[in-house]
Amino acid sequence: MAGPFADGSSSRAPARQATAAAIQFINVDDRSARDVVVLPPGRIERRACAPDDRVIAFRRTIQNVAKVFVGVVPPAGGRALAPETAQQIDEPTITGCPAGWSPDSRVLYMLLDTDGHRCLWAQEVDVHGRLDGKPYPARHFHDRASAGISTSLGNAVAPGSFICETVVVRGNLWLLSQQ
Ligand SMILES: [Zn+2]
Repeated sequence: MAGPFADGSSSRAPARQATAAAIQFINVDDRSARDVVVLPPGRIERRACAPDDRVIAFRRTIQNVAKVFVGVVPPAGGRALAPETAQQIDEPTITGCPAGWSPDSRVLYMLLDTDGHRCLWAQEVDVHGRLDGKPYPARHFHDRASAGISTSLGNAVAPGSFICETVVVRGNLWLLSQQ
């Protein structure tokens, strides 16, 4: 059965999962699984795989310090990625969170509190899966009427465009008259 992707694969986005021991790719056609990232003790979460399935980002928390890492997905049959060998994003916060990837898999978007607001930042990744430079702001969310956006955007639906939820707070004053 042909999948929803250009190459006929149906083993992508809906099929990633984190077990207690590893982040795995699952082929939904035959239900076969392969380990992509082996999990050490501690918390690894917010995995975000690039659309081309070649690089994966995740958040690792050690003693309440959460940092974002990027690693190259091993080829089928290859040894799973050890988080210790992944590259840590160079950013000053301890609450960073991968949000999603650009359609061309060359930009990882993250939610970072670098400037005191939780904004969308971009980290470029080269064709080899190596970090290229430091994160830069992609979209600020400093609008005081906005009470934040969803914490996991998923991959961009088009260059620079995401579908996300946001909450907008509006106040109303009502004057009640006694009758
Ligand atoms: Zn900002």
